[in-house]
This record gives sequence, structure tokens and C-alpha cells, in this order.
Amino acid sequence: MAVRLSPQASPASPARVVITSLLSVCIATLAAIALEPFLADRPTWLLLTIAVLASAWASGVMAAAATAFASALSGVLLVDTPFRDADRLVHAAGFVTISLGIVLLMRRLSHWREAAHVHEIDAGESSRKAQETAEEQALLIDGATTLAIYMLDARGHITIWNKGAERIKGWKEQEILGRSAAAFYPHEDVAKGKPEADLAQARADGRFQEETWRLRKDGSEFLADVTITALHDADGRLRGFGKVVRDITDEKAAERAIEKREAQLNAILATVPDAMVTIDAEGTMLSFSNAAQRMFGYDESEVLGKNVSMLMPSPDREAHDGYITQYLKTGQAHIIGSTRRVMGCRKDGTLVPHELAIGEATGGGERVFTGFMRDLTDQEATAARLKDLQSELIHVSRVSAMGAMASTLAHELNQPITAVVNYVQIANILLESPDPQTVAEVRDALADAAGEALRAGQIVRRLRDFVARGEVQKQVHDLPTLIEEACSLGLVGLSEHGITVRLQLDQAATPVLADRIQIEQVLVNLIRNAAEAMVESPTRIITIASALGSAGMVRVTIADTGPGLDEGVASQLFQAFLSTKTDGMGLGLSICRTIVEAHGGKIWVESSAGHGTRFHFTLMHIISEERDER
Ligand code: ADP
Repeated sequence: MAVRLSPQASPASPARVVITSLLSVCIATLAAIALEPFLADRPTWLLLTIAVLASAWASGVMAAAATAFASALSGVLLVDTPFRDADRLVHAAGFVTISLGIVLLMRRLSHWREAAHVHEIDAGESSRKAQETAEEQALLIDGATTLAIYMLDARGHITIWNKGAERIKGWKEQEILGRSAAAFYPHEDVAKGKPEADLAQARADGRFQEETWRLRKDGSEFLADVTITALHDADGRLRGFGKVVRDITDEKAAERAIEKREAQLNAILATVPDAMVTIDAEGTMLSFSNAAQRMFGYDESEVLGKNVSMLMPSPDREAHDGYITQYLKTGQAHIIGSTRRVMGCRKDGTLVPHELAIGEATGGGERVFTGFMRDLTDQEATAARLKDLQSELIHVSRVSAMGAMASTLAHELNQPITAVVNYVQIANILLESPDPQTVAEVRDALADAAGEALRAGQIVRRLRDFVARGEVQKQVHDLPTLIEEACSLGLVGLSEHGITVRLQLDQAATPVLADRIQIEQVLVNLIRNAAEAMVESPTRIITIASALGSAGMVRVTIADTGPGLDEGVASQLFQAFLSTKTDGMGLGLSICRTIVEAHGGKIWVESSAGHGTRFHFTLMHIISEERDER
């Protein structure tokens, strides 16, 4: 709105003051001169007073003052000594007083006018601002298209309706204005008198808010967040109500879906046996599952918001932030997406071995890493115990195998010892008549005795090594030597049963990575089984062969000419406690499989009735470069 200034409100210009003063004084002076013959000098002061008044009216206080001054001069000149008599003095004093009064009055009037003018400007400004604000508010209200904003009169009839209301509820402004807001309530709510009750509540409390079902024009329902505010005028009388309605159907559905998913996730996290920890890109822990609390001994509240490195021992603890930074910078993941065995650090400082799998998720522009940890403490303890038991069993089985061979071994040892005794006795007899010839014969006899004693000693040493309990030591061994050593124990006494042994060793199929004693145990076991199987066979030949196999392995074969495998045992041959022998434990082949598999090889059998049995097993072949590296 434009503001117009009244002419009286602004002070008159100096030129206008001078002109007005001179003009009014001149007119009054001329009028006084003209009227003097008729009225003597009586009206002079009156006319000059009128001049002052006219100037004041026309040009304000300054003009009045200037005119009063000029009129006083003119009066003195015209009236010829005003102090001559009392009458003239009274007229002059009257002029001065009235002029002074006019000037003072004009001054006060001028102040009032100025104040009124300022007030008028302020009022204009306020009204313009109010109009602008109203327009802005209307725009704002219509711009809020996600909110239904409307006003009701004191009776609950609609008076203002915004675009958002039209969009949410479906009614256009012209069809809803003047109607009752009860139109938006479901029928059962209307029947219960809820529309009036809600307004009454808003009137009583000033404001009423609820989440409830409301109707659209097409009759469909939507979940609404409704706020009703009572509006009063300056006197406190109810003017009406302001209503803001938000359609929260989708929002609530999404909220419920999130709550449901969160509840499911929490239930999973509470029950999943693996520990789960989520961290952000700075390594700060965001969640810590129940299993994680059990595994690390921390409460959730003790770790949330802290860096995950507190769950790691050195040097990972110090390096972990660097790992994340490096990954975020280069995108090269070392552990993400894979599983590895790592060490964790419990609250009490003890270490916890666990299998760690890390996943990554990005949501809402933020990166989150999830770590699943499986506690391996029990598993590793069980594995270690199992390994101990296995090696114990393997050892016991070796001792028991040798126990079963005791008589044969005793016989095997008896031979060289008897021979030593014989040679020593012969030497003794020869020395009864010593001559140079005899001395030479004694020397030969003693040399033979020493040879036999060495043979006996070798058997005892091998036997001792074989039954000794020692740590499993996989080393590079020459396969033919290993086979020959095993034969010296395994074949003991077999020649007496008419069993022939043939060696077909490939000189290229060596060396191998093996624990010497354990692989000898496999060989002894297979050789003794072969010998026992051939007790009633007409042909009794054991063939021990070695050959280069596939994938860097060497194959060892022990074949016999026995009756072949019993049909009942063939399918479960390597299981423990399976035996067809009256005194058999059924452990030999199962132990053979354990040993071979612990060496990274495999064991299998081929057999056809009447054509003997062939046991094969493989060992890791060490090629020369690998050997050099070791
Ligand atoms: P045990 O010798 O105490 O019976 P093993 O596990 O060494 O236990 O052997 C299991 C069974 O496998 C034997 O009882 C036997 O029936 C069969 N068997 C093993 N080797 C041979 C073989 N060379 N020829 C035929 N049968 C065999």
C-alpha cells in the first residue's frame, strides 16, 4: 500500500514562509491604511492579528512567527507611537498576546499533526504488512500439500479449505465449504457423537490430538493424525477451530514393517549361536548380540559406541583402524566376504579363538560392517583331544600288532643270537690249539658273530622305534627306504609260511612327506593282513609297488594272491571294529585310513574273488624344488 503525506504535515519551505508573511502583512497594512480615515487606528492591530492568523493557517508556525514580527514593526510604524495613550498600549499588548498565542498554538498543533502523521504512517505500514502476511500464510497453507489444513466455525462448519485437504480428502473447496466436519468421520463415530465430542474436548483443553480413522469423499478410510485447535477472539469468545490432518496410513504401515523387521532381527540376534557385532565406517560398535556378550564377557552397554578394536589382541588392536581406512580408500578387501580363524580378546584378557566372517551393507548413504564370530574354543579343545586320542590309539594298535607278532619276533631274534653263540663257541674251541691258521678262522668266526649280533640289534632297534610313542613328525623320506624298513618288521617270519615278497619300486616315486613310524605302521598292517589272507592259498605272493600318481601324489600298492575280500566286509572295510577273524579287533584298516588321510592322501581297495586283493594308498610327492625350499 502507498503512503500519501498531507501538505500541513511537512514544514513549509523558507521561501513560502517569507512570501506568506510579507503578503499577509502587506495586505493587512494596506487594509489598515485604507480603512484608517473611517475607523481611526483602531482596526490596525486587529487586521495585523488576522494577518498572523492567516499566515499561521496557510504556512504554519514559522510563517505565523515571521508575520507576527513583521506585523509588530508595521503596527508601530502605522499607529504612530502605540505608547502614547493607554488605549493604544492595550491594543498593542492585545496584538502581541494574541500573536504569541497563535504562534504557540500553531506550534502545539504542528506537534500533534506530526504525531498523527507518524501514527498514520505506522498504521499504513502495519496494514500493508498484515496484508502481506495474510497472503504469505495463504500461500504457505496451500503449499502444504501433504497436510489438510482447514478452519471450522464455532458450530463445526468448514470455512477455509486448503489444497492439501482437497488432495487428501477428495472434496473441492466449493463443495465442502459450509458443511459440517462430521462428514469426515466414519459412520459409527458420527453415531457415537464423536465429532461434537472432539470439538468440545478441543474447546476445553485448547487443543485436541489423536491418530484415528477418517473418511475420504469416495468413502475409503485412511489413518489420520488429527490436531484440532480452538481459536478465540480478543474477548475470549470462541471464533472457531483450526484443523490439521495428516494421512499417516503409509507411514504407519512402513513403521510397522520396520518394527516387525527389527523384532525379527532382534529375535534372531538373541538366539543365533554365532556372536554378531555391527560397526560403522569408523569402527564404532553399533550392536552387540547376546552370543557376543557371552563370548567376550562384556555387556552391551559396555561396548556400544566404543571402537571394535577393544575386542582384539595386539597387533590387530592397533592396526584395525588402518585396515578399515585402507579398505575405504582402495576398496580392496582382505577379509570381507571370506571366513578366517582369528583371535579375540575377552574382558578378562584371555584369548578366544573364533571363526570370523565379515559382511558389508550400505544404507542411507552410511556404510555398516557386520561381523559373525563362531567361538572355536570348545571345537579346538575337542579337536586337540581327538588328535591325542587318535595318536594314542594308533600307538596302542602298533604295540598290540607287535604283541601279536611277539612269538614270530622272538623267533626272528633267536636265529642271530643262536648263530652268535655258535660262532663264539667255535672260536673258543679253535683257540684251544692256536696256530696262525686257527687264528684266521677264529677271526672269521668272530666277524660272523658280530654281523649276526648287529642284525639282532637292528631288529631290536626297529622294534623299539616302532612301538615308541612319539610326536607325529612329517618329514621328507625316501620311499623305498621307508618300505624296506617296514618290510623288515612286517615280513618277519613270513618266509617260513612259504610267502614270497616282490618289490616293484619306481625310483621316480620318491621322496614323500611322511611320519616314518606311522607310514611304516600302515605298511606293516597291510602286509600282515595280506599274509593272513593267503594262509590257505596255493600261491602266496605279496607284491609291494610304488608309482607316480596324479596331482603330485605317489601311489603305494600292496597286492596279494589271496581269496579276495569277503563280500560282507567290502563296503565297510575301513570302519572300526569290523573283522572276519576270530581274534581280530577290526581296527587295523580304520587306523590305516586315519593315518593316510592325516597325511593328505587317501586309501582304497580293489578286489575280485579268486584274484587277490590290492590295497592302494597315496602320499604327498616332494619334487626337488620343494625339497630345496624346505
Ligand atoms: P583285523 O585284521 O583285526 O580283522 P583289519 O581292519 O586290519 O582288522 O581288517 C578288517 C577285515 O578286512 C579283516 O578281518 C578281513 O576280513 C578284511 N581284510 C583285510 N585285508 C584283507 C586282505 N588282504 N584280503 C582279504 N581280506 C582282508
